[in-house]
Amino acid sequence: MNRDLMLRRAVERQQPWDLVVVGGGATGAGVAVDAAARGYEVLLLERGDFGCGTSSRSTKLVHGGVRYLRQGHISLVLEALRERGRLRRNAPHVVHDLEFVLPCYRRRDVLMYGIGLKAYDLLAGRNRFGRSVMVLPAEVVRRLPTIRTKGLRGGVVYHDGQFDDSRLLIHLLMTAADRGACLLNYATVTGLVRSNNAVTGVHVRDAESGTEFVAAARVVVNAAGPFCDEIRQMANPSAQPMLAASQGSHVVLDRSFLPTHAALLIPETPDGRVLFAIPWHGQTLIGTTDVALSSAPVEPHATETEIAFILETAGRYLARQPRREDVLSTFAGIRPLVKSGGNTAAMSRDHALRVEMPGLLTITGGKWTTYRSMAEGCVNEAAKLAKLPRRRCSTEELRLHGYHADASDSLGIYGSDASEIRKLILADPSLATPLHSALPYCGAEVVWAVQSEMARTVADVLTRRMRALFLNSRASVEMAPRVAELMARELGRDSQWIAEQLRAVDALANHVTESR
Ligand SMILES: Cc1cc2nc3c(=O)[nH]c(=O)nc-3n(C[C@H](O)[C@H](O)[C@H](O)COP(=O)(O)OP(=O)(O)OC[C@H]3O[C@@H](n4cnc5c(N)ncnc54)[C@H](O)[C@@H]3O)c2cc1C
Repeated sequence: MNRDLMLRRAVERQQPWDLVVVGGGATGAGVAVDAAARGYEVLLLERGDFGCGTSSRSTKLVHGGVRYLRQGHISLVLEALRERGRLRRNAPHVVHDLEFVLPCYRRRDVLMYGIGLKAYDLLAGRNRFGRSVMVLPAEVVRRLPTIRTKGLRGGVVYHDGQFDDSRLLIHLLMTAADRGACLLNYATVTGLVRSNNAVTGVHVRDAESGTEFVAAARVVVNAAGPFCDEIRQMANPSAQPMLAASQGSHVVLDRSFLPTHAALLIPETPDGRVLFAIPWHGQTLIGTTDVALSSAPVEPHATETEIAFILETAGRYLARQPRREDVLSTFAGIRPLVKSGGNTAAMSRDHALRVEMPGLLTITGGKWTTYRSMAEGCVNEAAKLAKLPRRRCSTEELRLHGYHADASDSLGIYGSDASEIRKLILADPSLATPLHSALPYCGAEVVWAVQSEMARTVADVLTRRMRALFLNSRASVEMAPRVAELMARELGRDSQWIAEQLRAVDALANHVTESR
């Protein structure tokens, strides 16, 4: 993916695109893949970096949703379990099976959760990842050595999927680009073009050059996530908001809090939800919260109250209580929930598809796990609206960019692209040097991100091509100068650019801060 070429294509195009997609998160990328795979001509526009919204800030689970099962959302769980299976088959380099342990401190809970998770297995059918089993306390401790043992009566072991959200997103975009889609980050949709009471295109501003242009479209797909009401109101200023925003935050701790391959599910938090503690890229990720917001911030951050809540709740189940100074990083995301009454925790995680006016289709809500089926329904509808030639969806069995069955080494998450990164190292062995002793990243990944994944800023690399800023904010600040130097060389930037980039990373790191 080369941004200069993509921009030129978008600016110079005279004909309408079959679809213009607004938003470069999971939903927009899924739509772009589906439409491009059907042979439609697609332009995707993202106002920040790809995935800078909710789609890089999830809990990283490809799951049916044990909590939704308890809430009785059976059809959502069924669909998500089906998609979970497809996703692991189509992107085994990014999605893998993760064992979860649910510790029980009351004997009857072992049976109750054991039966519930058996039902989860049954619903998964042939898409089941692993069989759930009820286990004795000693087995819980063997799988989770740092669990609190006082009063432990047993537990249930079950399986779900884990992934790296922004890495999967980049590979989705590359899948779309491989099939001819035009994709632009740092390209804001500033307005809609209308004629005869229908939407016929979008006004775009390239945030890097300030260039403005119009992209004509047979249909515009609004996939702006928590900001989709803004796009709807560009078409109809009196449109009632369809979304409720809810913030979910995560805390990242050192691996010593969960020194195992298994994850911990805390089934009942004081506010009646669940909390996960998950091994992720060598650290321990714990989340999440559910805080209703009146509007969605562009750069959400975990509040001290949320951090304290997560640490306190996790501490009830861990032998060692995590403290504020143990926090390596935090990150927060905004759930785009389709309004359905009640509090945000109880609102359905289902998605909604809405035709605002001819030429404008909004898709929102849902989950990362179900992005593909959401996209299938959306492109079916978009093709009808735009009177495009009917073509069948082909993404159920579509292997995603980078597909590679063996993703075991440190570059494994890049799938088949790992060999391209190794070639960069062969040409310049200094690129193999780790960028920081606390994190598993090297210079070649920075060069690759700029050359092939459209990374434009140091924050793009540290946050969404690598996950450094989410894993360890202090280490990220320390490695930022080397990342900036490598990027400046690739992008032809000067020392002033480097200084600006480092200031921006400092500001972000303060957002995700530690209190030390
Ligand atoms: C805390 C949390 C944890 C979660 N955990 C999980 C999980 O473990 N598993 C799971 O399956 N799901 C999970 N989800 C849900 C999942 O992350 C979301 O459903 C999904 O990421 C939403 O993607 P999206 O593309 O709709 O929105 P976004 O990712 O927010 O994308 C919308 C994009 O539109 C862009 N945009 C907005 N306005 C404009 C404009 N004018 N011009 C151009 N671009 C614009 C934004 O910059 C943004 O990047 C979680 C969500 C949260 C909040």
